[in-house]
Amino acid sequence: MKIRTKLILSMSILILFILLFLLAVTHIQFYISRDLAYLEDKAPFESLKQEFEQFYSSHGDSWEHVGSARFEASGSFAEILLSAEGKTLYQQGSLSKEELLEDGYMLALHAGDRKIGRLYVMNDRQFKTYEFKTMWYGMLPNIGIASLLFTLIAAMLTIFFLSWRLTIPIRRIIKGIEAIRKGDAAAVFPEQKKDEFGAISRALREMNDSLAEAERTRKQLMSDVAHELKTPLMIIQGELELAHETGSPLTAEKQASILDEVLRLSRLVHEVLDLSRLEAGMTELHPRTENLVALLGDLTAKTQFLVEDKQIHLSMHAKEEVISVSVEKARILQALYNLLTNAVYYTKPGGQIRLLAETTHLPDQQQPYAQIRIEDSGAGISEEDLPYIFDRFYRADHSRARPSGGTGLGLAIARQTILAHGGRIEVQSMVGKGSVFTVYLPLSARTPNMV
Ligand code: ADP
Repeated sequence: MKIRTKLILSMSILILFILLFLLAVTHIQFYISRDLAYLEDKAPFESLKQEFEQFYSSHGDSWEHVGSARFEASGSFAEILLSAEGKTLYQQGSLSKEELLEDGYMLALHAGDRKIGRLYVMNDRQFKTYEFKTMWYGMLPNIGIASLLFTLIAAMLTIFFLSWRLTIPIRRIIKGIEAIRKGDAAAVFPEQKKDEFGAISRALREMNDSLAEAERTRKQLMSDVAHELKTPLMIIQGELELAHETGSPLTAEKQASILDEVLRLSRLVHEVLDLSRLEAGMTELHPRTENLVALLGDLTAKTQFLVEDKQIHLSMHAKEEVISVSVEKARILQALYNLLTNAVYYTKPGGQIRLLAETTHLPDQQQPYAQIRIEDSGAGISEEDLPYIFDRFYRADHSRARPSGGTGLGLAIARQTILAHGGRIEVQSMVGKGSVFTVYLPLSARTPNMV
């Protein structure tokens, strides 16, 4: 059932109830007005009652000949007397028995405690009410039905208008949803009003925006990955085609170059997968309590041959002997390794790299954190590039993209790994002076196993 039909149905039922209620009230009003006529001027009623009771007692407790009797107080009344058994004994005035029984005011007659009869009376005021009631019920079939129809038509028109106004935003929302379904990222929704429709529109608009954003990211990732795959594939294809066309075997040098490209491709695919899983929150971590100082020692040892090659001075300082963190060792080591190899790569021979570790408090956090700083005296990063370096495939120095061997995913993976561990990463840099990458990891309350 459509909203409009539901509205019309419920409004019609409501109007019908109101009309029936008004009818009942009018009906009750007639009886109230009859009783009020008695309550506001009781005296004539009481005199008439007394006259009848006196007649009864003065005739030896009998109603005999009452039909031909005259009662002084009866002048302004129409009345009918019924015996205790309900037999008509006396009637006066122009009204019929049924009319008096229905609309007359009843006075109970007594002789001592004994009921001797009932007198139904109607004075002028009550007669007017009675006349009006008769007229009202006489008119009701005509005027009543006419007004009922009029009210219903008016109600329907109002409802049609209201429901039309009400369904405009709904129709717009449906249109918007249709547009989203068809992939129209710029789908429009009704103006934000402060009602429920406004709230639905806002929620849909936000949902659409995030869907569009996700779609943009997906497309960007596809094109980035395709772009990254293209060069190594072209090199491999070129070498193999050449060998095939000339029929000459691949030299050891060419084989090494092809292997290099294949390894690069394989690394790229692994890193893209890893990053996508991290970003989607699909990576299940297996953290253990580790001593960060020991981890940094391992890292320094692992990087030693790189720095020696480039004659860079690498030093490590930890303010405490043990800094407990709950991490998946291999992943955190990989993230820090990405940062450290970058520092080595972007630092000229003779430069310096410092690894610093200590515990600290973050202004917006209650719990203590481990802080790791990786400081280099390298090339630095320009202010324009700084906000984007954690984006995947972003390389500040494009000309060095390939020779560096980097996939452009190192920082993105490091950041996602650190976030997945409940930490954060920050960077400060100055072109020509060097860069400082700071990593924060939540401290673990437990002591690491020192074997
Ligand atoms: P890449 O594989 O190119 O190293 P990353 O994600 O690790 O990719 O780094 C992104 C970019 O950030 C790099 O291309 C480089 O321009 C910049 N960058 C990262 N670390 C440093 C650093 N220590 N000094 C200067 N530039 C850096």
